[in-house]
Amino acid sequence: MSKPSILVVGAGIFGLWQAFALARAGYRVRLIEAGRDPFARSSSRWAGAMIAPECEAEGAPLSVRDLGREGLRIWRDTYPDIMSNGTLVVAHARDAGDLARFANMTEGHAAVAGPRIADLEPSLAGRFERGLYFESEAHVDAQKAMSWLVDQLRLLGADIQFESRWNGTPEDVAIDCRGIGAHEDLPSLRGVRGERVLIRTNDVSLSRPVRLLHPRQPIYVVPQGDGRFVVGATVIEREDDGPMSLRSALDLLGSAYAVHPAFGEASVLEMGAGVRPAFSDNVPRIIVEDAGRVVRVNGAYRHGFLLAPVLARAVAGYLSDNRREGPLFAAP
Ligand SMILES: Cc1cc2nc3c(=O)[nH]c(=O)nc-3n(C[C@H](O)[C@H](O)[C@H](O)COP(=O)(O)OP(=O)(O)OC[C@H]3O[C@@H](n4cnc5c(N)ncnc54)[C@H](O)[C@@H]3O)c2cc1C
Repeated sequence: MSKPSILVVGAGIFGLWQAFALARAGYRVRLIEAGRDPFARSSSRWAGAMIAPECEAEGAPLSVRDLGREGLRIWRDTYPDIMSNGTLVVAHARDAGDLARFANMTEGHAAVAGPRIADLEPSLAGRFERGLYFESEAHVDAQKAMSWLVDQLRLLGADIQFESRWNGTPEDVAIDCRGIGAHEDLPSLRGVRGERVLIRTNDVSLSRPVRLLHPRQPIYVVPQGDGRFVVGATVIEREDDGPMSLRSALDLLGSAYAVHPAFGEASVLEMGAGVRPAFSDNVPRIIVEDAGRVVRVNGAYRHGFLLAPVLARAVAGYLSDNRREGPLFAAP
């Protein structure tokens, strides 16, 4: 018997992974997106796109870490351009307490001193005396990975329609991945603003995301190739994707300068903000409504890239044999 056709709504990282997993499983998939492409309106386009389950455990529930470990494994098995160089966490000597706390809250790291930091990242030689190296972690270029998923969907024969808006009309089965756009249907969803800057310089070279701990403004610098670096991100409890504030720009760029003064000469390519959709515990959910005809996949918070493959696999499991296991199916 042929599998039913499925409508996936929203071409952010959740919708793209849902559509991809279902098309690969043999469903006829139609993906619709209100924007003119996956980067026009999604919050996903702003992501640093770190696949970092260990580091995220510092501030996230352990269920996110455990699901994220699985997400990392699926990305590695699936996406050829994943950058698997780990994460380096550093702090200036006066912030040694932050580093000790980060180490206590996380697993899978090795303590590294100055010579090893210089070995891992020659550009940082002499800049930090202590750090933590999370060897197992990875990152992707957000826009490149999203474009790759669109290409795979086309190869699998999925029907993709941009500038097409869903109005909630019942379909055979609709997978709702509208991010914060689903707020009206998911009243417990909230938006968390995240700002980031994209810069370019050839004077600093990094192989992996570097997180700088700081009591006021911890930041990360994520290398994206061709001398481009994502510097992020603020976490502001507000549903607002308007332009970056001057204060946030000062904080983020000042902290990048503290990672390496050569960032002071970098070109600023783009500044902006996305709204992360989140439930109160910051754990995403799969919510089945209307006798299974609408499945809402939402609440990615800071972990959309990390967890998208795991939610896609869970929804495919639910559609094939009604399986609803684990924290993802719990009420938000
Ligand atoms: C600055 C920043 C840095 C981040 N860094 C990371 C990171 O390093 N690692 C990580 O894992 N996560 C990171 N995140 C989090 C991640 O980006 C989000 O969790 C994720 O993007 C949410 O994805 P989504 O697909 O649910 O929503 P979105 O990406 O917002 O996609 C929803 C899509 O639905 C479309 N839509 C809405 N309504 C309709 C409608 N009626 N009809 C059709 N289409 C509709 C929208 O146009 C949009 O394209 C970061 C986020 C930000 C803002």
